[in-house]
Amino acid sequence: LDPEEFRIQAHKVVDFIADYYKRIEQFPVVSQVVPGYLQKSIPQDSVPNSPESLESILQDVRRYVVPGITHWQSPNFFAYFPASNSTAGLLGEMLGTAFNVVGFNWLSSPAVTELEMLVLDWFGEMLNLPKAFMFSGGCGGGGVLQGTTCEAILCTLVAARDMKLKEIGREKMSKLVVYGSDQTHMSLQKALQVAGFSLENFRVIKTTKSESFGLSPTSLKMAIQSDIQKGFVPLYLCATIGTTSTNAVDPLDSLCDIAQQNGIWVHVDAAYAGSACICPEFRHFMNGIEKANSFSLNAHKWFFSAPDCCCLWLKDSSALRNSLSVNPTYLKNRATDSGEVVDYKDWQITLSRRFRAMKLWVVMKSYGVANLRKFLRSHVKMAKIFEGLVERDERFEVAVPRNFGLVCFRLSLDEDQKSNMINLKLLEGINKTGRVYMTHAVVEGMYLIRFAVGGTMTEERHVVMAWKLVQEVAEKVLEGV
Ligand code: PLP
Repeated sequence: LDPEEFRIQAHKVVDFIADYYKRIEQFPVVSQVVPGYLQKSIPQDSVPNSPESLESILQDVRRYVVPGITHWQSPNFFAYFPASNSTAGLLGEMLGTAFNVVGFNWLSSPAVTELEMLVLDWFGEMLNLPKAFMFSGGCGGGGVLQGTTCEAILCTLVAARDMKLKEIGREKMSKLVVYGSDQTHMSLQKALQVAGFSLENFRVIKTTKSESFGLSPTSLKMAIQSDIQKGFVPLYLCATIGTTSTNAVDPLDSLCDIAQQNGIWVHVDAAYAGSACICPEFRHFMNGIEKANSFSLNAHKWFFSAPDCCCLWLKDSSALRNSLSVNPTYLKNRATDSGEVVDYKDWQITLSRRFRAMKLWVVMKSYGVANLRKFLRSHVKMAKIFEGLVERDERFEVAVPRNFGLVCFRLSLDEDQKSNMINLKLLEGINKTGRVYMTHAVVEGMYLIRFAVGGTMTEERHVVMAWKLVQEVAEKVLEGV
């Protein structure tokens, strides 16, 4: 790596990126390519034998890669949940990658570990997390940056499993039962599959529209009682703040009480909505968190940082380490032996790990808490504006109450079956224009369109334009009814 050559080339790449962001609204939000497009269009069918210039590579990126990109950073991207990037997030990612270190233990790069501990405590402070979840609490709690929520759930499930089996005996594995709701993210099921649980021991508790799709404490209690009567051992509950389909919030405080009475590990998945809880007006959604065992959110969703960046906090980090630490002789070192350092390899599945803390640190320092709150509030305000527009058009309804930056809406027709079909057509028509991208969910048999605001470049005018487009397409769809 020649530093001067790098300087020249990196400037060109930065220019390319800046131009991409400048022109981002010109691209169809959803990629229009067909499966196998790249293989068919790219001229080479084997690895180039001789070097190519950066100009030629960037030309290929423009010609072959960009058409196959669905532009998550477009201000007109309202699908799934946002993957909100930012200047600071990008620059932090660049810095973290530039050092190119593999911080599996403290010694392998002390800054990787200590900066991670610092940003997780800072984030905890912003969220008003109980001190018990933080390193500064000094009671064995602390945070770690995982790649994704799937990993965070798997790791905490394994920690809970091993702790319980130590108490009741390994031979009782088939008796352990895990709880979630029919709105819990599929991450939990995936974790169960990986961790060797039978899906027969997974209690998926039904939610209802009348309870805004939150997990009912009464239903949880009944499920636990029934399991205990049958000789099962309740193990783990995944509660959600901001479910994927509708942003429902499980009533954490009551759920934790029931869980505590039954020796259940509570993990709180706030993958998307957790970030909003740095604003005092949203913090109440976390009430009861002091009784949970672990809590996670994705900074790569709504905290201005690129994937992968899932923040996981635990009250008792030793449970995680007991399950995940492996100490081969080739990694033996004095710092580890002293017991004074954190070796993050013992807090995660993999050994190698990226310098993820750098981007979070740069984001927090560049914007400061006041601005971060301002950005999040501006997204929620735009969601409210969209919600107001939906409410003003009597052909439509807001399908579930809005909690954060997600509006779930639909054309309201008398007949359920027909209504689902029409709304599906509406969404297809909207996305076909390429001007915006929205996605759907089905809850209690009801098909609804999800409009998630959170793009860093989204402004009020984009939201208003999106609504006008919905109305235009609806007009056409309704003509045929
Ligand atoms: N949990 C919730 C509530 C989510 O909405 C999502 C993704 O949208 C996830 C978990 C999965 O996150 P990840 O892709 O980081 O595993």
